[in-house]
Amino acid sequence: MNKDKVKIGIYELTGCAGDALLILDCENELLDIFKAADIQSFSMAKSDNIDGNLDVVLVEGSVSTEREVEELKDIRKRSQLVVAIGLCATVGGIQARFTNPKEWEKNFKKVYGDVKMEHTPPLQSKPIDDYVKVDYYLPGCPIGKEQFLHLFTRIVKGAPPEKYPRPVCVTCKFKENDCLLNRDILCLGPLTADGCGAACISHNLPCVGCWGPVEGANLTSEYYLLKEKGFDVEYIKKKMANYSGTKIAEFFEKIKEEKK
Ligand code: SF4
Ligand code: SF4
Repeated sequence: MNKDKVKIGIYELTGCAGDALLILDCENELLDIFKAADIQSFSMAKSDNIDGNLDVVLVEGSVSTEREVEELKDIRKRSQLVVAIGLCATVGGIQARFTNPKEWEKNFKKVYGDVKMEHTPPLQSKPIDDYVKVDYYLPGCPIGKEQFLHLFTRIVKGAPPEKYPRPVCVTCKFKENDCLLNRDILCLGPLTADGCGAACISHNLPCVGCWGPVEGANLTSEYYLLKEKGFDVEYIKKKMANYSGTKIAEFFEKIKEEKK
């Protein structure tokens, strides 16, 4: 243990563990990562984990059991800064993509029947900021390697991580790609935070929104534009909901109200 190094914990809640794997996949940088910080807890990478006080924690995954709520609250108490990494931690993930969240229990029963999970009762999947204060966010499904290394370098130097305030369309325009919407291809670039540098469109594929919703996205305009272009309403909803987690449900409620 080194007193001068930033003490970091990396924790996983419900998800596919893709973000933790992405960190491990930084093969050329991994030794430098472990040298640059005092990584006290990272169960995907080491077995001598310590649950003590930390400077920074990176939390992957959504909260979807009562035990995870307790675990997360304990992590928050022990750390100066909490960073949500990956789409599940930032917006709830694909497991939170209900267009009608009131149907969670019904859907749960459809999959698991009447089985009682007493050891750790399940909850509807939620992003971590539904339960604790989050200081910074690194979205992405999964997070990108380059963006993770930027974030990691900044936190070990005591600087705040970068934010991703612009939609994918901005970089897409800088790269002079032809707009796919003009070719009547469903693209979610206007609604999605740009951390990937418009990767898919630059390979002639539409954005499906894997970096999650950008702040201030004009959902109404995109919804009606896609409708005008003749896309089926249920298809639009599914596409828009896929990577938006819990944040999209209110929008669909509003659309339903407008139709009444
Ligand atoms: S192709 Fe997609 S990301 Fe690019 S400008 Fe058009 S809508 Fe935006
Ligand atoms: S789906 Fe969208 S946000 Fe995800 S990598 Fe492709 S362009 Fe980027």
